[in-house]
Amino acid sequence: MIRDEETYPEIRDNVRRLCAKFPGAYWRALDRERAYPTAFVQALTKAGYLSVLIPESFGGSGLPLSAAAAVLEEIHRSGGNGGACHAQMYTMGTVLRHGSPEQKALYLPKIASGELRLQAFGVTEPTSGTDTTRIETFARRVADGYLVKGQKIWISRAEHSDLMVLLARTTPREDVAKPSDGMSVFLVDLRQAVGNGLTIRPIRTMLNHATTELFFDDLKLPHDSLIGEEGQGFRYILDGMNAERILIAAECIGDGRFFIDRASAYAKDRHVFGRAIGENQGVQFPIARAYVQLSAAALMVDKACALFEADAPCGTEANMAKMLASEASWYAADQCLQTHGGFGFAEDFDIERKFRETRLYQTAPISTNLILSHVATHRLGLPKSF
Ligand SMILES: Cc1cc2nc3c(=O)[nH]c(=O)nc-3n(C[C@H](O)[C@H](O)[C@H](O)COP(=O)(O)OP(=O)(O)OC[C@H]3O[C@@H](n4cnc5c(N)ncnc54)[C@H](O)[C@@H]3O)c2cc1C
Repeated sequence: MIRDEETYPEIRDNVRRLCAKFPGAYWRALDRERAYPTAFVQALTKAGYLSVLIPESFGGSGLPLSAAAAVLEEIHRSGGNGGACHAQMYTMGTVLRHGSPEQKALYLPKIASGELRLQAFGVTEPTSGTDTTRIETFARRVADGYLVKGQKIWISRAEHSDLMVLLARTTPREDVAKPSDGMSVFLVDLRQAVGNGLTIRPIRTMLNHATTELFFDDLKLPHDSLIGEEGQGFRYILDGMNAERILIAAECIGDGRFFIDRASAYAKDRHVFGRAIGENQGVQFPIARAYVQLSAAALMVDKACALFEADAPCGTEANMAKMLASEASWYAADQCLQTHGGFGFAEDFDIERKFRETRLYQTAPISTNLILSHVATHRLGLPKSF
């Protein structure tokens, strides 16, 4: 296994050791049942890896984003999947950056210890698609709080979370100066909400991702569930999205390394026509190309991390990192499958599972076209098309 020069060698080593206790057979069994990796998530929580981004004053380890990226990359390189819990690392950023002192004191220490799970993030809706300013879920002000009506889709881990960050309109789109105004962010206590105005319905997908549909039918939220200022929610979620995109890019780098490790090992071992298949350049070159592409994408992930950590604008770099890493991991996945011939399709090799898992990241949390549109208009000054 080729190890490039690595950041946080000690953390990576410990994560690798932890992941070794959750081998392919563990993930395959869950994948078959579309079951949640509870034991794995508990082990990560206990080891403190899900609270690395929470400041020490709130009980976390106060490490920079690149440390979280190292953790997720190693989980994915090991053949596991951080999708079940990665949001526990970064969703709290909305509370940390925009919550009141009372909200921070109340929630962050419990999120750091794992007593509270905040790993659901409710933005996407069936009718608005990527055009978030057209969300219809509405939180109407009433005497002692808000009443929420509407629907969300693809809200992952809602069944495995105590709290959810929810984006809802609080002023109709037609009554605000800018379409992105008039949306607000709420911290919803799912333990109280389910059955009292909120229904969660799981969606079975091509990968094991615990994603769901949410139905709000006059869900009552107390006033103090509002985060920051009413109407400013879109701005609040945007800055959390950069962290999400960078960390998901790191997961793609881990996936890519998994595929390249596996493809290289198999190409050396598998003998056909009296020699290792890896002696054929037709087999070598695609694996080498995957390595070249992945190495370049990893540099962009590092750059996006560095900008984020310096508090510098990093929206474009976060997007570019996510796009390059997801494309590099997908190319590596395809070549790894091809290198394995028929065996690549067998469940027991874990290639087909990881192949399905890594494909998600060209669509979520933002699709490639939307990234290209962002780069074209924000970086290159080309005219907006929508
Ligand atoms: C497994 C899974 C988990 C998810 N988890 C969450 C979650 O936890 N929370 C959450 O809020 N969301 C979640 N999502 C939603 C995800 O972020 C969206 O699916 C994604 O952003 C794409 O949005 P959409 O599905 O509405 O596609 P659409 O917006 O309907 O787009 C469909 C296609 O058209 C393209 N397209 C649309 N408009 C344009 C345009 N103007 N120019 C060019 N191309 C365009 C898109 O690139 C895309 O390929 C999840 C999705 C999945 C599948």
